[in-house]
Amino acid sequence: MATIRQEDFIQSVADAYQFISYYHPVDYIKGLYEAYQAEQSPAAKDAMAQILINSRMSAEGHRPICQDTGIAIAFIRVGMGVRWDAKLSLQQMVDEGVRRAYMDPDNKLRASILADPDGARKSTGDNTPAVVHVELVPGDTVEVIVAAKGGGSENKSKFAMLLPNDNIVDWVLSMVPTMGADWCPPGILSLGIGGSPEKAMLIAKWGMMDPINIHELQARGPSNRAEELRLELFEKVNALGIGAQGLGGLSLVLDVKVNDYPTHAASKPVALLPNCAATRHAHFTLDGSGPVKLDPPSLEDWPKLALDFSTSRRVNLDTLTPAETQTWKSGERLLLSGKLLTGRDAAHKRLVEMMERGEKLPVDFTNRFIYYVGPVDAVRDEAVGPAGPTTASRMDKFVEPMLAKTGLIGMVGKSERGAKAIEHIKQHKAVYCIAVGGAAYLVSKAIRKSTVLAFADLGMEAIYEFEVKDMPVTVAVDSTGNAVHKTGPAEWRAKIGKIPVVVA
Ligand code: SF4
Repeated sequence: MATIRQEDFIQSVADAYQFISYYHPVDYIKGLYEAYQAEQSPAAKDAMAQILINSRMSAEGHRPICQDTGIAIAFIRVGMGVRWDAKLSLQQMVDEGVRRAYMDPDNKLRASILADPDGARKSTGDNTPAVVHVELVPGDTVEVIVAAKGGGSENKSKFAMLLPNDNIVDWVLSMVPTMGADWCPPGILSLGIGGSPEKAMLIAKWGMMDPINIHELQARGPSNRAEELRLELFEKVNALGIGAQGLGGLSLVLDVKVNDYPTHAASKPVALLPNCAATRHAHFTLDGSGPVKLDPPSLEDWPKLALDFSTSRRVNLDTLTPAETQTWKSGERLLLSGKLLTGRDAAHKRLVEMMERGEKLPVDFTNRFIYYVGPVDAVRDEAVGPAGPTTASRMDKFVEPMLAKTGLIGMVGKSERGAKAIEHIKQHKAVYCIAVGGAAYLVSKAIRKSTVLAFADLGMEAIYEFEVKDMPVTVAVDSTGNAVHKTGPAEWRAKIGKIPVVVA
């Protein structure tokens, strides 16, 4: 009979959360590289290269793959023969492991968890509590899966109570385009079918932790309905042409997982959950012999890629004028240098409230660009920690007042804008650019200096001024309102030619 010591359990959880903050699972690296090699869309291929290079840099630098270091989720299978030498509950032990990992001064992770979610939304300070799922199983060991899920992909989770004769493939193909690129593909889609509503969600989440192995299934062929669905969905979802980061291309997903469970005769619950470019999970087993040390991947597991900026336009942000930005075309690649302002949800809300009260703003936005970002705190000699873009559509409602009243001429964020925001961008002849979601450490290397200009009390949501050198971005909405997230997927869907393109 194994005895699991409290300290061994906590330290193993802490080490695993640090591990997954900077090491992708090897199957993800290999799956993404295969997709990269097959990709024919230049924009999607470039995004995949950035994600792969970022992945290797994070592994070498032991710094987070993404600035959103996620909500901590743990699946724990406790053997019924196990004894515990512990005073804390399982939830408290996992939380202590999360606290240690996220507060580690050598690689401090972003504390993204807020208490009172429909009220004050105040940070708990250390990314606790974790979401813990426990199952009692026969045996003498404790199996643990830890995962860190980013908000961008969690927010795109879908669930439906379908009728027994509804077609799941049709439902998935109707849902995926509505998810846009906010979930930072390429990644994995995981379906849970059957059981009760919460069971469908749970088996979908659990299934997401399985290794990427769709090509093995393609080679051996399906042996049950779930495997048939995996193959059909893998082909049809990619044939939508949405591609990496929603730029249009061949690979939106690297795998589709399907898990099912018996359900009521009147029901067909179905959950559809995405896992993003920052796919992060680790698996370990405690047997009473001490804390677990996970084996790091070998640097040989990453392809040796270099970024090609030879066709990118170099832009000096410090001398930029609206006349210059109006020459940029949707899909064009840029390298930004100079001073870049930052701001996201809380700063925008405060700025707009100040404008409504007629107050002077603390920052002059004339002819400036704003970057939607909430970086990880810096360590050692870093100017800033990993600092990838956050979801731009959350700022859509602020676009009109910011462009109309502040002199702002451009924005940098992640994924597509809504129709109204695009209208305002066109009306004010402004531009919107994207950086690659899931390439946060790579982006941070372009940031040479960071100074807080306003709203310091907002922490990572304060307004900073970054000094950047050759920060890679792509024009996603140009001053005529042309949007790459519309034109790219339509072009590639037509090229793939398996699903009719509907022109709105
Ligand atoms: S890759 Fe995108 S969705 Fe995933 S954690 Fe990072 S920002 Fe969020």
